[in-house]
Amino acid sequence: MFAEKLKQDEVSALRKDLAAAYRIISLLGMDDLTYTHITARLPNADSFFILPFGKLFSEINASMLLEVDLDGNIIRGQEFQYNKTGYVIHGEIYKVRPDINAIFHLHTIDTVAVSAMKCGLLPISQFAMPFFQAIAYHDYNSLALENDNHGAKIAKDLGSLKNIFLRNHGTLSCGKDLQEAFFFTRFLEQACQVQVKILASNQEFIIPEDEVCAQAARDILSFEENMGTRDWQALLRLLESNCPEYAN
Ligand SMILES: [Zn+2]
Repeated sequence: MFAEKLKQDEVSALRKDLAAAYRIISLLGMDDLTYTHITARLPNADSFFILPFGKLFSEINASMLLEVDLDGNIIRGQEFQYNKTGYVIHGEIYKVRPDINAIFHLHTIDTVAVSAMKCGLLPISQFAMPFFQAIAYHDYNSLALENDNHGAKIAKDLGSLKNIFLRNHGTLSCGKDLQEAFFFTRFLEQACQVQVKILASNQEFIIPEDEVCAQAARDILSFEENMGTRDWQALLRLLESNCPEYAN
């Protein structure tokens, strides 16, 4: 009985945290109207929470999130329009990566711009260092998104990494929890913004030596134990004053 109550509390907290993730991405202007999705795996379960397709990120509340199994079938909640394709991509990653419990898929303009550059992400700013020799790429294949195998192919290209560019399309950032996935999402966004600005500036630029980049990656990734949690707590305070209804 007690264990069951604990589990329910954990699931409610996760719903609230995922709703917060949608609101935070919206506040930061990193959403794409009703497209893209953020998911979180239920504790020790073969299912995850996702938004109902058709809602803006700024409209998401904890209680409206759908629970979906790893094959993309709705277990709990009411959708407005079926979006199995979106569900399947996340499900396929969760299937093969037990270490991943949260995934952000976004289409911000600067990450899409870098996704289309042959050079990929350059270690050109401190924001890019956590991804030094640690980011994957998945080639664009038009409406292959409609193909059920697509999620498995993305999961294969992701391999053991946590971040991947979907060429000409967007990004996926994963984490052991929402806070870690958010940390990568935000750093990747800033890294891409800097890269786009530098490449547009027509100035010569400096890329640090490989050893320095590798050291910076290690330093940033070991800076604190629960990466992203401090910023996350600060952003929750912002939500509490701006839109406390996210937790409903
Ligand atoms: Zn997309």
